Amino acid sequence: MEIERRTYNEINISKALDNFKKRNFDPYFFEKKDMAISFFFNNVNKEQTIGYGGSRTLSQLKIIERLRDEGFNLLDRNNESNTAETRAKLERETFFADVFIASVNAVSIEGQIVSLDLWGNRVCATGFGPKNVYLFIGYNKLVQDLNSAIYRTKNIAAVMNAIRFNKKTPCTKIGRCIDCFSEDRICATMTIIDWCHPKDRIKLLFINEELGF
Ligand code: SF4
Repeated sequence: MEIERRTYNEINISKALDNFKKRNFDPYFFEKKDMAISFFFNNVNKEQTIGYGGSRTLSQLKIIERLRDEGFNLLDRNNESNTAETRAKLERETFFADVFIASVNAVSIEGQIVSLDLWGNRVCATGFGPKNVYLFIGYNKLVQDLNSAIYRTKNIAAVMNAIRFNKKTPCTKIGRCIDCFSEDRICATMTIIDWCHPKDRIKLLFINEELGF
């Protein structure tokens, strides 16, 4: 990464850290993804149940594979052997997990998290349920304010996800959200979290690398 980009990210992530701390979150900054992964594995153990939300960032970090390989107590919703019923059951059980991991669709420097799901399993478990939440966040998810975070969520993250899943929605043709009525729509539940309760439940792991959509 160029020095100018790295410095620019450090300035803005530093402001975000201050603002998220004021809002009761527990934020961290890591220059490299391997440092964030080590932090996470140093803070969980095999006695804990661990749930997760669908995420390109988690795929890039290969965290789910490592949790499987090392025998952690994973509520493995994406396991290839799952039936639809098993997957739905695991997603409900995730609300009682000790640990939940996911990414976000956007975060603002002002200290808000915005995410959007079809089922709501990821965005709702981020706000309520699991005892501890770890969110892995590449610098590309960081924007100035709440309006920009909502815009990013709908017009970048959701559109990229619709393209990823080969959906027949207007956004995959025109490259922006038009709040469609398509049967293939992937957007249903959007959440804004702007205060962490209980304090420090949500840990934000900012990483100075581009990750996810
Ligand atoms: S509401 Fe429809 S058009 Fe908008 S991002 Fe979702 S699927 Fe695409």
